[in-house]
Amino acid sequence: MNGRGNAMLHTDVPYYTQLHHVLSDLLRDIAQVFPRHSVFFATHDGVTNTIQQVDDQVGLAIPEGYTEPFQQSLCRLAAAATAKVVAIPDLTAHADTRSHPFTLQCGTGSFLGAAVTHPDGSTMGSLCLISDEPYSFTDREEKWVGSLARMVSGVIRMEQGQVRDGLTHQYHANVLPPMFQEMAARDAGILLFVISINDFQWINQQNGCEQGDQLLRTFAQVLQEEFSAKAVPSRIEPDTFVVMLPCAEDEHPEHRARTLASRFLHHIHSTPFRMKDRDQYVQINMGISYYPKEDTHFEQCLETARKRMKRAKQLPAGEHMVDSDEALLVSEREFRLRNDLNHDGLYQQLCLQYQPQVHLADRSMQGVEALVRWNHPSYGWLAPNIWIPIAEAYGHIHAIGKWVIRQGCIDMLAYGAQHEPIDLAVNISPLQLREADFAEQVLAIVAEVAFPADRLVLEITETLLLEDHAHVMNNLQTLRSRGIRIAIDDFGVGYASFHLLHKFPIDILKIDRQLSRPLTSPANKKIVSALLELAYSLGMHCIVEGIETAEQHAFYQQYDNYWGQGYYYHRPVSPDELPAL
Ligand code: C2E
Ligand code: MG
Ligand code: MG
Repeated sequence: MNGRGNAMLHTDVPYYTQLHHVLSDLLRDIAQVFPRHSVFFATHDGVTNTIQQVDDQVGLAIPEGYTEPFQQSLCRLAAAATAKVVAIPDLTAHADTRSHPFTLQCGTGSFLGAAVTHPDGSTMGSLCLISDEPYSFTDREEKWVGSLARMVSGVIRMEQGQVRDGLTHQYHANVLPPMFQEMAARDAGILLFVISINDFQWINQQNGCEQGDQLLRTFAQVLQEEFSAKAVPSRIEPDTFVVMLPCAEDEHPEHRARTLASRFLHHIHSTPFRMKDRDQYVQINMGISYYPKEDTHFEQCLETARKRMKRAKQLPAGEHMVDSDEALLVSEREFRLRNDLNHDGLYQQLCLQYQPQVHLADRSMQGVEALVRWNHPSYGWLAPNIWIPIAEAYGHIHAIGKWVIRQGCIDMLAYGAQHEPIDLAVNISPLQLREADFAEQVLAIVAEVAFPADRLVLEITETLLLEDHAHVMNNLQTLRSRGIRIAIDDFGVGYASFHLLHKFPIDILKIDRQLSRPLTSPANKKIVSALLELAYSLGMHCIVEGIETAEQHAFYQQYDNYWGQGYYYHRPVSPDELPAL
């Protein structure tokens, strides 16, 4: 394992107080024994060598904090030596050091390096002597420095447990204040997040401590991945983490805080942790504060964020607080909805409305889109945009999504028994498509209620095209091979582009109403026309969404192969009202 450095130690050394004291004494003692040498301790991570602490008694200008590529450093010779001590009496006589910049500058010199190693054999750094004069080290001298290097290794390992948490390898609370100060001196501002896992004790009891530990390790990894590389995460209590992130005032700290918090919350609430025999969903609370606008000391910042986290904890799990009380009001309703989505009675309160999709040439009804509605006992009829995101965040969307498909098929079979059968389009959440067996679930429902698969269209969002998710692609291909068609909903306002359409098995583009509506300028008309023609040349069917006026209809009528949908033709209606249309 020679040469493989310990990246953790490399960056952590400034927070090792014991090591610092021990090294001061050791370097001075060594310097006394070798009056013609300067003495230093360096660490490396395999890439960079960093001089951490120096007793430069002969004035060789070796600055603390100096970094150089590890492969070009003299220290690498100690790391590479099997005996872990390398002594070079004359730098000009040794092939590896002859043309080193130090040798060239001094004309000669001597070097002794003793590797500081881990019990597993990897090297963390080296204890070194260097002089601009040749010097023959005795056997005893070499052995002595070698034993001091082993002592340094012992001190490091002892202290490592106080700097890093052995379980998650994140920083302990005691090193946060000096890190905060350092960050504050270097960066203009700091966002401080306090994140706590709800009911961790209970999770531990349910799954056993070993599984609980594994969950914490994975949680820490996700934390590191979801926040930026500049973020410093730490575990300050068994179930509580702090993340410090440099963020200047002109980087819009509040916006950044909200974005990061929402993204992380969404990830944690929607992705279960794999336990031995089941998936464990985890709820978290988060509080955020900002230095220096709100608080000017680490302790204050931590306290403010902690208070906010606790306030969020009393309300719904999963809220994060940046500031204002407005968030509290929203979260109260969210809390109610989240609990009520979990009730057995939910499906008696849900129903589907159907919005017709018509042929643009003659306005004949060709299909319908199913739109789910919730008649909430306290809030009344709720539009999907209010509660679908909550259902997604708390894992209810899978059951609700299946209910929508089944109910839609049943309603359309009833309609088809009396009338010409029409297409049924159903909206699908990205979370559903990421499930490995989503396609099988859909096919099972369709088979069970005997709905013709070639009458079913699944509407997916444009952003799914940007994902490189194996399950998504497999599901789409399986569904399509069985005759179910795929439509891209709200196309043209997101991020996806035409080359992605080609990669995915897509049948229908639904042009978003933001694009289809503003027909005010000739340029706008040209854009929509170009989009429709391009789709046509790619062999895709189009549905223009959000047609609200006679002018819009008149314009789109020329695209007589395509369909339209919008309030101009029909608003969404209950299944009983469909036959009258
Ligand atoms: P969407 O799939 O793009 O559905 C179209 C939305 O636009 C519907 O709103 C519809 O009522 C509305 N709309 C239709 N024509 C017009 C028009 O001419 N002008 C205007 N201003 N609006 C029009 P709704 O029902 O509130 O649904 C909103 C979104 O909720 C849907 O957007 C869809 O993304 C989601 N959604 C609805 N039902 C479901 C469901 O069963 N599952 C999932 N996952 N999402 C659903
Ligand atoms: Mg839709
Ligand atoms: Mg749409």
